[in-house]
Amino acid sequence: MGPDIHQVINGGITIIDVHCHLDFKDFNRNREEVIERAKEKLRAVIDSGVGLGGNRRALALSSDYPGFIYPTMGFHPADASKARPELIEEVAGQIESHIDRIVAIGETGMDFHHTRDAEGRRRQEEAFRIFAKLAEEHEMPLVVHARDAEERALEIVLEHSIPEVVFHCYGGSLSTAERIIDAGYHISISTLVTFSDHHMKLVEDIPLESMLTETDSPYLSPFRGKRNEPAFVAEAVKKIAEIKETDVEDVDRVTTSTAERIFGL
Ligand SMILES: [Zn+2]
Repeated sequence: MGPDIHQVINGGITIIDVHCHLDFKDFNRNREEVIERAKEKLRAVIDSGVGLGGNRRALALSSDYPGFIYPTMGFHPADASKARPELIEEVAGQIESHIDRIVAIGETGMDFHHTRDAEGRRRQEEAFRIFAKLAEEHEMPLVVHARDAEERALEIVLEHSIPEVVFHCYGGSLSTAERIIDAGYHISISTLVTFSDHHMKLVEDIPLESMLTETDSPYLSPFRGKRNEPAFVAEAVKKIAEIKETDVEDVDRVTTSTAERIFGL
């Protein structure tokens, strides 16, 4: 952990990690410890399910930590490229029967980086449309994973009428980011911003009001060779403050109120 996290994160800080996977087995070893560390520094954590089992575990975690861990339910696009349509339907049914207990639908989306074949991409799109339609029908926020497919994902989103869309861990072009923002939707900045020049540049150009903060843990650790965890979202907040030439309290205040509004926390 960075040496000055405890100095930066004081009583007035109420950061939210809007996207992580505490339900993954990477945390089996010491999940409670990780959550206790998060509780010391954060206001809330959103755990995103990426499949039938993960969705169930996200829900269970939110019951274990009410008012702190909030669940979303979805299906990962990389898996959707290989999944049978029946499985996607089953997940859609699972989401619908828990719609009152989740804060968003997702993650879902398009990943052309991991899926290169046309048939896989077609299946991804089909699944994504099913979840986008669910978000429209139930007037729920949609958490989108888009990699090397940001524009296509945005086009599909815009064919629907969805109240709120969050492009999680956004790493696409600035022009697509601007279209997302113009549509009134949001971009979530991950801990990647601590070391990726492209993400730093995006933060420079995107208004603070259109941003959220996340870890996508266990992935994308700001500390080389270490598993990421929700408490480390503070590193992203610090970096954003530095780039925006403002203080962490300001970044925290703006991004937290945006997250509270979008997810109804
Ligand atoms: Zn994720």
